[in-house]
Amino acid sequence: MNQRPRNDRWMDLLLLRMREPVDAVDRPYYTTGSIVTAAMIRVALLGLICIALAQVADATIVWWTAMLSLWGLGIYPAWLQHQAFHETVERITVGTLCGACRYFNETNQLCTIMDVHVTSEEPPCEGEGWEPLENA
Ligand code: SF4
Repeated sequence: MNQRPRNDRWMDLLLLRMREPVDAVDRPYYTTGSIVTAAMIRVALLGLICIALAQVADATIVWWTAMLSLWGLGIYPAWLQHQAFHETVERITVGTLCGACRYFNETNQLCTIMDVHVTSEEPPCEGEGWEPLENA
């Protein structure tokens, strides 16, 4: 059972952590939506900081600060987090029974008939609901 408070996940994303905590076992800890949302929040905060900086600093300094911080604190960490998320999905897709089942939704790591997240090699249905992929 995931005992981490919901706010912790947002703090992890905003603080640019790249790995899921060890106690995040019952559902995907990072998702595409949460990664993109956190990146947008970081970019918005950086935008406010750059607007404030523009009041006291030269335009060239503001421009370089904005570009470097947008890349370094906004976009690049989100890309790394998404890579980590993608690796997790890939591990489940390739190495588990669910990955070869028609009811597995890769996008959100969900078993669509049981409506539960698949986070380990053990299929939540214990194999009883498994059906092959239609194109297999
Ligand atoms: S039906 Fe079973 S094997 Fe298929 S995705 Fe759901 S839990 Fe996995």
